[in-house]
Amino acid sequence: MRVIVKDELRARLTCAAHNGSVIAKDILAEIKSPKDVSNVVRGKANHFATKRKRQNGGDGYHRIKIVFTYCNKDTSNENFPDRNNPQAPWFNENRTEADASTFVGCFKNLPEYNDEEMEYFANSICVMSKVSVKLYEKMSDFEDAYRQENYTPVAQFGDSTLHNSCMRHEATARNAADFYYNFAGAKIIIAKDGEGNILGRAIVWPKTIHSKESEVYECAFLDRVYYSHSFVMKLIYNHAEAIGIHLRKLHNDYHSTANFVVMNAPEGYPLPNGEEMEETQMAVKVPASRWHKVGAPYLDTLSFILLKQDGELTLTNYDSIRVIATCRSTNGYADSMRKYCPRCGKLHKECEPICNSCRGELFQETFLGRAITERIVTYKGLRVPASLLKKGRPTPTYALYLQIQKLYNK
Ligand SMILES: [Zn+2]
Repeated sequence: MRVIVKDELRARLTCAAHNGSVIAKDILAEIKSPKDVSNVVRGKANHFATKRKRQNGGDGYHRIKIVFTYCNKDTSNENFPDRNNPQAPWFNENRTEADASTFVGCFKNLPEYNDEEMEYFANSICVMSKVSVKLYEKMSDFEDAYRQENYTPVAQFGDSTLHNSCMRHEATARNAADFYYNFAGAKIIIAKDGEGNILGRAIVWPKTIHSKESEVYECAFLDRVYYSHSFVMKLIYNHAEAIGIHLRKLHNDYHSTANFVVMNAPEGYPLPNGEEMEETQMAVKVPASRWHKVGAPYLDTLSFILLKQDGELTLTNYDSIRVIATCRSTNGYADSMRKYCPRCGKLHKECEPICNSCRGELFQETFLGRAITERIVTYKGLRVPASLLKKGRPTPTYALYLQIQKLYNK
């Protein structure tokens, strides 16, 4: 008798092998072998299958874990109650349940595998679909990847950072997409199953700047990976490395914002691939396109918005006195740290939009109360002091003020 395997297990092994599991690939080769089962499998085990264990994940998805089952009874033994019944190996009472490592251990010709390979196998066997990973760059790609309606309905047992991500709702996904595409100029790596469901995603920053040994380097950086299954994180790392992205986070979380790993060292870089770097200040100059309409997401690494002296907007992983906003809210907007005076461009912390000295110039106390000393004009439905416009258009300072205001929930 040859090795007998149920279709679902065969399909799962095929997908897991495609999705990078070495063990799944090796087992597929074994079960295709024309040899008698006794040459392939230890003991009496045969009639292999899988069984799903299910947990409710809440919010439109569930968690599934795959266990393996097989019959290891001596079905030809005279004392076997179901002797000669051809369905006997499939009777529940004649079957044994096993975890991934016990199942792998049934195959006598396979090598020893390390813990990482075993974990990858146990995790990837839970996804019965071939996963594709690609770099995307359109605004709609961001929104598709963020909206929870598009997520895979199945996650691993334990944590699914994708299904719990704080930007998954319709309004926040919209603002995240607008910000990443129009304000920040980022790209995104997305992992999808065969039906187009999202299994993982990570923001890519094509041009971050940091200095090392007094040289400045421009690096592409892979931000935190959100995933339904941990093997998807590894697929995204592999893809990022293959397309030449230089750095990724050392810890895949939101706490650690200044520790990175070199995936592809840029030319002349003082550290080799695989090297970890700590306490590194990183910045990215953003295009802040006028098409940015509204909002900002929670950012896991580059969460400070800094306005440089020359008026350039920059995202950084460090605080400074030029920080105007932080992106650590889950409501779809940035939080203001300092105001930018629309009249003179000074950063300040007054309650009103304009700074103290502009207020002194613009307003006078009269016996009727405070009065503006300037003509008032209308710009796009707003009543504004005439000095904020020039030939009917906003001055560069006022224009930048309007751009910054789009980050906030007005
Ligand atoms: Zn001012």
